[in-house]
Amino acid sequence: MSVVSDVIVPARAPYSAILKQGQVMKIIDLESQQAVDALFYNAHDFSERYSAQDTLAAQAAGEKFYLEKTSVLRSNEGREMVRIIADTCGFHDTCAGACSCESNTVRFGHETRFMHACRENFLIELAKYGLGKRDLVSNVNFFMNVPIRPNGELTVDDGVSEPGGYVELLAEMDVLVLISNCPQVNNPCNGFKPTPIRIVISQG
Ligand SMILES: [Zn+2]
Repeated sequence: MSVVSDVIVPARAPYSAILKQGQVMKIIDLESQQAVDALFYNAHDFSERYSAQDTLAAQAAGEKFYLEKTSVLRSNEGREMVRIIADTCGFHDTCAGACSCESNTVRFGHETRFMHACRENFLIELAKYGLGKRDLVSNVNFFMNVPIRPNGELTVDDGVSEPGGYVELLAEMDVLVLISNCPQVNNPCNGFKPTPIRIVISQG
């Protein structure tokens, strides 16, 4: 496979790229325990975008609540956008959403109001494509550990990904991929210390 791009995304920073059908994006958690929030849009029609509901409904027969190797990320039209073809972590969340200034104040106190959050990262990147708040939809949280308690409650626990852990995504259509290298420091999704990630795009 030939490398199309190879970048380091600094801690707390956003990133975006168009992934052509057949290309593979490898997201590498360089230092471990780093949540990587991601959104996906049809590169030719942004109104078609990733849907957690369609994705989980399609894999419900296997009673799979998390995303893992062989999971297919589907759009709001039920079509295949991206397929997970390699994964060292074992499971990835798509239900806990992205952190925001607003949710930070509710969960961690009003003094966190001005802390940078994934939602702000997404808005910065979305603006480059003429998109905005109304285009913020359900996202994937790669490397984020979200166990379900016996009472049905979702919690964010210590990440389990190892240094150098990675996930590989094969594009099933041309997709715009938006990423927020999560800046959260109030819960353990980043080990309380946001770190850089590396993103390599290859031609299959
Ligand atoms: Zn976040």
